[in-house]
Amino acid sequence: MGLTVLGSTGSIGRQTLAVARALGMEITALTAHSNMKLLEEQARQYKPAAVAVAKEAAAKALRLALADTGVRVLAGAAGVESCAAMPADCVLNALVGVAGLPATLAALRAGNRLALANKESLVAGGALVTKTASEMKTPVLPVDSEHSAIYQAMQGCADLRSIRRMILTASGGTFFGKTAAELANATVEQALCHPNWHMGAKITVDCATMMNKGFEIIEAVWLFGITEDRVDVLVHRQSVVHSMLEYVDGAVLAQLGAADMRLPIQYALTYPQRLPCPAERLDWAKWGTLTFEPPDDATFPALALCRTAVRRGGLASAALNGANETANLLFREGKIRFPQITELAAGAMETAAPGQADSLGSILAADAAAREYVYTSVGRS
Ligand code: NDP
Ligand code: MG
Repeated sequence: MGLTVLGSTGSIGRQTLAVARALGMEITALTAHSNMKLLEEQARQYKPAAVAVAKEAAAKALRLALADTGVRVLAGAAGVESCAAMPADCVLNALVGVAGLPATLAALRAGNRLALANKESLVAGGALVTKTASEMKTPVLPVDSEHSAIYQAMQGCADLRSIRRMILTASGGTFFGKTAAELANATVEQALCHPNWHMGAKITVDCATMMNKGFEIIEAVWLFGITEDRVDVLVHRQSVVHSMLEYVDGAVLAQLGAADMRLPIQYALTYPQRLPCPAERLDWAKWGTLTFEPPDDATFPALALCRTAVRRGGLASAALNGANETANLLFREGKIRFPQITELAAGAMETAAPGQADSLGSILAADAAAREYVYTSVGRS
């Protein structure tokens, strides 16, 4: 037994291994997509029982490279799911995109405690993920910093009815304060330059469109069983207050700290224990002023779009997620303009087929249709 890290070569995956090393945790399995060099290094350093990679050809090469280690090398999405299902103390899912959903379900179905960074699992398949977790009586611990903050502020709350609302803080992303006209010409380089956090490329662009914060509203709905109208968003440029929980008596509990993902990662791994953590400490005297302001919903329509998707239910969020993932990539490839990301996601959501997000098949079909919608629309424009 030990810790399995899905997406160990990514931003969250690498920080998770750093935390695990500091905690002295054993590693059960690791997975990656394209970064074979780093995966090989990690396999040698952490000596997991198994690793998985996306492509069979890459798996073959890695099998040769790791022949002296006894590490089993699995291939494809099935290999990643097998790693997720191996008996472990915890599976931390740091995959990016809907590709993380089958692994989330595999971990839960195996009865593994799940530390979830892959928010797209909940955006696309929240109903199915929460149903599976509750049937298996398997805990889902949030890794996303806002949800970790809420979870921390929730400790000791005996009755969830005493919570009035959740306030997710948002840095505002790289384009905060820009006008719609300025966003029309936003470049990939600008969008990838986040003021406070160093993250993978997809989530950094999602922060720039505010789709990330919209996804976090959906994530909160599923993680905490709250309706979206009780999840507010406040722009807080300093990223010091990681989110707040308001109780019915007016008390507001928040978690504050440096913008350092190692703390929420560690909290998910060690919960309910708190242990010393390598995360940065803030010099509070330095923070003379913390500011809070409402988001600009007119310039960043992604927030309202996500609220509509989660209210609508069914496959709307799966379609929104699939279209956003595709459009986000097309923008990074220089094939569409920045505002088109949200426009295409909205269009795909409106054309989503009716149906329930109650099986992996229906969710992935809605995801595929939304991707097709984006490609067809871009081909036409
Ligand atoms: P990265 O892009 O840095 O890492 C993604 C990881 O997933 C890599 O290990 C990558 O492998 C692997 N991967 C990519 N595509 C696939 C695929 N199709 N199948 C299997 N594996 C794949 O992302 P982040 O670490 O930034 O984000 C991971 C998740 O955590 C996302 O859902 C994000 O929204 C969430 N999150 C991230 C935060 C952050 O600070 N980074 C904060 C809060 C949430 P390879 O490197 O080999 O290509
Ligand atoms: Mg977040």
